[in-house]
Amino acid sequence: MPGTVWIGRLLGVRIGLHYSWLLIVFLLIWSLATDYFPMQNAGWGPGTHWILAGITTLLLFASVLAHEMGHALVARRRGVPVDDITLFLFGGLANLRRDPQSPRVELAVALAGPAVSLLLAGGFSILGRVVSSSSVAAAAVLSLLGSINLALGLFNLIPGFPLDGGRVLRAFLWLRTGSNRQATATATRVGRWISYGFIGIGLLDALSGDLVAGLWMAMIGWFLGNAAESSELQSTLDAALRGVPVSTLMTTDLQVVGPALSVEEFVTERLMVSHQRAFPVMVGANPVGLVTLADVRKVPRPSWPTTTVGQIMVPLDRLITIPPTEDCAEALHRLARAGVNQLLVVDAGRVVGMISRADLLRRLEIERLMA
Ligand SMILES: [Zn+2]
Repeated sequence: MPGTVWIGRLLGVRIGLHYSWLLIVFLLIWSLATDYFPMQNAGWGPGTHWILAGITTLLLFASVLAHEMGHALVARRRGVPVDDITLFLFGGLANLRRDPQSPRVELAVALAGPAVSLLLAGGFSILGRVVSSSSVAAAAVLSLLGSINLALGLFNLIPGFPLDGGRVLRAFLWLRTGSNRQATATATRVGRWISYGFIGIGLLDALSGDLVAGLWMAMIGWFLGNAAESSELQSTLDAALRGVPVSTLMTTDLQVVGPALSVEEFVTERLMVSHQRAFPVMVGANPVGLVTLADVRKVPRPSWPTTTVGQIMVPLDRLITIPPTEDCAEALHRLARAGVNQLLVVDAGRVVGMISRADLLRRLEIERLMA
């Protein structure tokens, strides 16, 4: 997500905070300190109210992180790599590199998060009871955390894709029909209806006087609807490209250039007379980099005759490459992560081809025609 600050790693998973998370932290501390804790016990005084609010928010942050770590660790154990976890306005998101490969894995990964939340809900509630005789303040914090974790676990089990419950629904449909594509389509449809439901109930609430809670609910509904659409697209792409080796879709008939070629010659003799938009830069049989139209744009026109391709290319050590045996779904993932349009396909130090976004999307279009 753009606007994310990476704060560190936990058990090998990168943890990020989206700036929208700060909004939630602020709102939460403020409403706990000025509303919730004063209602529990006005006699504690404002200082204590703010401290309790801070502690509760910190533990809530840890709870959401624990929910996402639940997904991440189960996914990793079942062979699905996890890149990172981001906390944002509506909670957390564990960023799995690809969809789980079987309905059973999907089911395990989807249930892991809510299971952690429900366990935490039980733990916090029991702990709250235990300390209630010695510290009323600690008991208030713990029982509140118990309720929030219970809500977090139950909310995520609502069967609207891409919520965890929606993933559970998809796993069941996938198991029954054997078709990931059909299961995704049905789960997405249910997700869309649930999103409309949230928006409708939220707006009714807002109109009947509960403005803030109503608008909040409508916003969650709107977010769920968007998430359903983009998750469906991601799943469709993933399913279409899964198990297709890069070598079947890559371009092999490549023109290459040398690093000493001037930018002027590169533009007039290569770019203008070819469909190819990215050229491997080679010294003999060894690749040293990649030069594209985007690199040329950074050089002012008058400097073209005196600048060489070697000066403007992206050198090999900074280039994202992919082996020909790798999956096309992985190629799409690397393209998206690096924000580039093509990858050099390299086999044992030799350039064997190039694969672009266009190559992958063409495949998807053909799959759609055949469906
Ligand atoms: Zn979850």
